[in-house]
Amino acid sequence: MSSSAVLARPEDPDLPEVYTTVESEVRSYCRSWPTTMATAEGSWITDTSGNRYLDFFAGAGALNYGHNNPNLKTALIDYLAGNMIVHSLDMATVAKTAFLQTFEQLILRPRGLDYKVQFPGPTGANAVEAALKLARKVTGRESIINFTNAFHGMTLGALSVTGNSMKRAGAGIPLVHATPMPYDNYFGGITEDFHWFERVLDDLGGGLNHPAAVIVETVQGEGGLNVARIAWLQALAELCRRRDILLIVDDVQMGCGRTGPFFSFEEAGIVPDIVTLSKSISGYGLPMALTLFRHDLDVWSPGEHNGTFRGHNPAFVTATRALETYWQNATFAEETVTKGRHIRERLEKIAAATPGVSARGRGMAQGLKFEETSRAAAICRVAFERGLLMETSGPSDEVVKLLPPLTTSEDDLDAGLGILAESVAAAHI
Ligand code: PMP
Repeated sequence: MSSSAVLARPEDPDLPEVYTTVESEVRSYCRSWPTTMATAEGSWITDTSGNRYLDFFAGAGALNYGHNNPNLKTALIDYLAGNMIVHSLDMATVAKTAFLQTFEQLILRPRGLDYKVQFPGPTGANAVEAALKLARKVTGRESIINFTNAFHGMTLGALSVTGNSMKRAGAGIPLVHATPMPYDNYFGGITEDFHWFERVLDDLGGGLNHPAAVIVETVQGEGGLNVARIAWLQALAELCRRRDILLIVDDVQMGCGRTGPFFSFEEAGIVPDIVTLSKSISGYGLPMALTLFRHDLDVWSPGEHNGTFRGHNPAFVTATRALETYWQNATFAEETVTKGRHIRERLEKIAAATPGVSARGRGMAQGLKFEETSRAAAICRVAFERGLLMETSGPSDEVVKLLPPLTTSEDDLDAGLGILAESVAAAHI
């Protein structure tokens, strides 16, 4: 979901004509990867010509457990075969009961998290909109603090707390009631970052209205794989607590184990007031999102925030099976951390051998940043031709971002990293 996301040829010669004659110009990934995808299994996608691609994109983080994960697929097929209810808004269903019970038992309770669960619409942006609305309703304040290079979605509220200027411009109206503060390391470690935030909060002449909430990603996926230090996250949480500001962690991309633990903030030992989850929560690429918040923040009136697609039962079924399969104990999280370290070592080697390149990321969200920004897109293009899917991120698309399924085997990780190394060496702008 890079800002231009146009990595390939301006025309799409390899695609059926309807892509240019019927589909809108807004399309992007079918331009980056101009081939018709057909089947997918685990970390691999096959196109209609039989070419196989190793998928280090994983549905932009929606496929942490891989494509058509057999365990999840069995649960889904059984559910559908039994004529069980598919669409139900927020009625009580067998699938929803099982999901809520399993989420509480395997995720919330073991972590001591006292959250209520809201089902907003099924996208990350829906979860963010609900979080912002709730924070405003609880506090009676309108302003939200966001961070430079943040990404929270394409709807107007979510866009108002998103940094990317091209995406913001698409709103066509002023995006107000949000104030960006520098994310960790914005000044390259020379100036303290959000101490600016603390300073203007304290300053009667600072011009900042008392915010309802701060919204933050622990690792900015779309913003260029910027990693907040653990100490920075802890200090931010502490500042919010002292100043009676709600802390929203947007875990849409980094949650569900992407950085290792189920929630990406666990490593910092912080407890956000509100958390958003989507992408990999269903585990199967089925649309689903959650907004989680402390019990005492549950000031919604019945139906005050609703939506037709809040009860997509097939997603509840695969989500429940994913939790049962991967989150009964700490093994999966530990394996992810180990694989992440391995990826990082390989990236550090590439970076050491290539001037103007540095490695960045946490867990299995890793990447390479290029001083010569256009190299990142060129590398993704070469990698595609060699059978590896990766996308760029960052305000100038200067980062090659790797988000392989967490279930990717070590051999496949090594194969993909080998293609990446070759592509870095081979890519010409
Ligand atoms: N928040 C974050 C951190 C994201 O990465 C994304 C999607 N890239 C969103 C919100 C928006 O999610 P969606 O595209 O499902 O609306």
